[in-house]
Amino acid sequence: DNKHNKPRSQVMDKLSEWYQNLLTSKPEALSYIKERGIYESSVEKFGIGYAPDSNATINYIKSQLFSVNEAVDMGVIGYDSGRNFARFIERITFPIHSANGSIVGFGGRTITGHQAKYVNSPETAFFNKSRLLYAYHHAKQTLHKTKEIIITEGYLDVIMLHQAGFTNAVATLGTALTQEHLPLLRKGEPRIVMAYDGDKAGRAAALKASRLLSAGGFNGGVVIFGDGLDPADMVHKGAVEELATMFRSAKPFIEFVLEEILSLYDLRDPKAKEECMQDGIGYLKTLSPILQEEYKTFLASRLGGLGISPSLVRFSQAPTN
Ligand code: ATP
Ligand code: MN
Ligand code: MN
Ligand code: MN
Repeated sequence: DNKHNKPRSQVMDKLSEWYQNLLTSKPEALSYIKERGIYESSVEKFGIGYAPDSNATINYIKSQLFSVNEAVDMGVIGYDSGRNFARFIERITFPIHSANGSIVGFGGRTITGHQAKYVNSPETAFFNKSRLLYAYHHAKQTLHKTKEIIITEGYLDVIMLHQAGFTNAVATLGTALTQEHLPLLRKGEPRIVMAYDGDKAGRAAALKASRLLSAGGFNGGVVIFGDGLDPADMVHKGAVEELATMFRSAKPFIEFVLEEILSLYDLRDPKAKEECMQDGIGYLKTLSPILQEEYKTFLASRLGGLGISPSLVRFSQAPTN
């Protein structure tokens, strides 16, 4: 059966090319791209495409002599109650590449108001969301030069940032930043700027990432946008200078974490203040000894302004050693 054992990259490349061609003949998809402020050059650079209805996709796969089973293994076709269905239906598609630039999956954004705004390829042996960073293969050239990488939440954030000249932007794929991302982030030792959405979820995710990155000894900081905005919104409204300033003056991870901890407690209440101190010290213990010393002073001064001396912060750590 000649419908078997096509190399994965060949199937993915072919499908991506097909999606890309369909975009140009779908007026609704093109006007969506335009509304979002995406340039034609970005459509090219990022291989943006359009996935049609389920039957058309399955027929295409069959006509190209890819086996449907193979397409199921690669995550582009799903199987449910005895039927195959295309995973990406009436969506703008974004090919997702490995660090060396081969397509390992897709993301798709609905243009018909489907309740799942985004769909991604499912986890497979070669598509591991907790290890991949969207557009890393593009960003790596820049980040080795500038020694800085910007991490966002979404495809559109990356595309719009690149358009605005921030060609060192990548995104986590609808997941948190994980321990498994760290080896890739260590390459070239860039400073890391976390630029997640300016909403509650984005802030919480930035906090988790800051804890992880600071414990891993990474340098960098966090940028918080106002009004629930994300980097794509900032570029779309023309706030490119503001973005540059924000990236330059990102709040260092450790300060951000400590300030988030401080904000959780009512420091007028002595008991809450003690808990806050313990919480802060617990976090500081995840850092290197030198940074622990450095930031004990920072924590003490924040609490100390409210009646706690730095010596007390030091003392309270001792018995637990
Ligand atoms: P847009 O600007 O098109 O609304 P966004 O990127 O700002 O998109 P968010 O809601 O902020 O969308 O989500 C950020 C990222 O999280 C998305 O780019 C996508 O990778 C992922 N995501 C969002 N919603 C879903 C979903 N329903 N299923 C899977 N992943 C999702
Ligand atoms: Mn969001
Ligand atoms: Mn967003
Ligand atoms: Mn957005």
